[in-house]
Amino acid sequence: TLQGKTAVITGSNSGIGLGIARELARAGADVVLNSFTDREEDHALAAQIAAEFGVEARYIQADMSKGEACRGLIKDAGRCDILVNNAGIQHVAPVDEFPAETWDAILAINLSSAFHTTAVALPMMRAAGWGRVVNIASAHGLTASPFKSAYVAAKHGVVGLTKTVALETAEEPITCNAICPGYVLTPLVEAQIPDTMEKYNMSREEVIKQVMLERQPSREFATVEQLGGSTVFFCSDAAAQITGTTLSVDGGWTAL
Ligand code: NAD
Repeated sequence: TLQGKTAVITGSNSGIGLGIARELARAGADVVLNSFTDREEDHALAAQIAAEFGVEARYIQADMSKGEACRGLIKDAGRCDILVNNAGIQHVAPVDEFPAETWDAILAINLSSAFHTTAVALPMMRAAGWGRVVNIASAHGLTASPFKSAYVAAKHGVVGLTKTVALETAEEPITCNAICPGYVLTPLVEAQIPDTMEKYNMSREEVIKQVMLERQPSREFATVEQLGGSTVFFCSDAAAQITGTTLSVDGGWTAL
């Protein structure tokens, strides 16, 4: 059980981050939800988790594209035994047409945010004598696809950061690992469907079956609950000697 632990999950008012927060809460952890918005419904998500799982849950607004805000999130949380770096965005365009400001935003949110949060969380974990960093990379942290230069570069960077942090904490009761999901049907993936339909001149169904699940031998989307379960595993005693590695949850994508 993760009772008495506090987990901070970046980008967790939707999709995978919310699924991970729910599974950590189910396992007994107090959770801090985050995104860049500050709406009533964001705070309501935390209240819902608190009521459903009997844990403490808070929502803290912080923009993960800004280094100081990333650091502020961890400071405001006050405690961070489990850090899940999940916030991420995507943009699909050929490299020679890729907007420079979009490149910068993807690198900031998908990669640099994890550097900033980890830098502040590690001293807290050391003080508490236990810690887990779980970075949500991607199958695109291990392989590439055309038109996703910034995303693939950032996710490969996340895997590199994961290994480095693992080595720096190797002799401490702290681990750092990455989860590499294949396709999960979240708003992030939904948003790619129109662009991909245009790029390949395909229907929505064709994009899902022939482009997305074409890469995923299981021909099934992974679920946010499964990614939450993988995160809970990394936080368990069974995973205490697992550090600096990647766990693919991709229906066989990277076995191809
Ligand atoms: P999503 O769009 O549902 O969730 C992204 C989350 O990040 C949201 O909560 C969003 O509010 C938050 N976010 C975006 N910009 C932010 C910012 N500037 N500051 C703070 N929060 C911000 O997408 P998702 O699919 O759940 O993606 C979550 C993570 O999983 C991402 O890192 C993504 O790259 C990764 N991933 C997703 C898939 C997939 O198929 N869905 C596959 C592999 C990896």
